[in-house]
Amino acid sequence: MADTIFAKILAGEIPADFVHQDELCVAFQDIAPQAPVHILVIPRKPLTSLHVAAQEDGELLGHMLRICSKVAGSAGLAEDGYRVVTNIGEDGGQAVEHLHFHVLGGRSLTWPPG
Ligand code: 5GP
Repeated sequence: MADTIFAKILAGEIPADFVHQDELCVAFQDIAPQAPVHILVIPRKPLTSLHVAAQEDGELLGHMLRICSKVAGSAGLAEDGYRVVTNIGEDGGQAVEHLHFHVLGGRSLTWPPG
């Protein structure tokens, strides 16, 4: 796997503003927020994207989605709602080749995305 910016964050080589850390995943503030709340949830396991996740990763993925809802709740998004999205590959707009869920909220989000 490529030595991505997220691998460096996981290794402590680059700082991040963490809002959650456990044995399977971490969550931190996006450096270029696209909404008042923009948190990234990433696995410690070096999966390049959702597309390469295997059946055996099901528990990890479920856990990460639960953490998405947990950090969204902690950020005060439960009442008004929010969006969880993962970009995959070039057409999906993925810039960092390490699986991550974006948790976006704090404003009304348009649909469809661009
Ligand atoms: P993607 O386009 O791959 O779905 O999303 C990558 C996200 O990572 C972008 O929202 C971008 O702002 C964020 N990002 C890129 N580099 C860094 C960094 O060094 N620190 C943090 N916290 N976020 C980053």
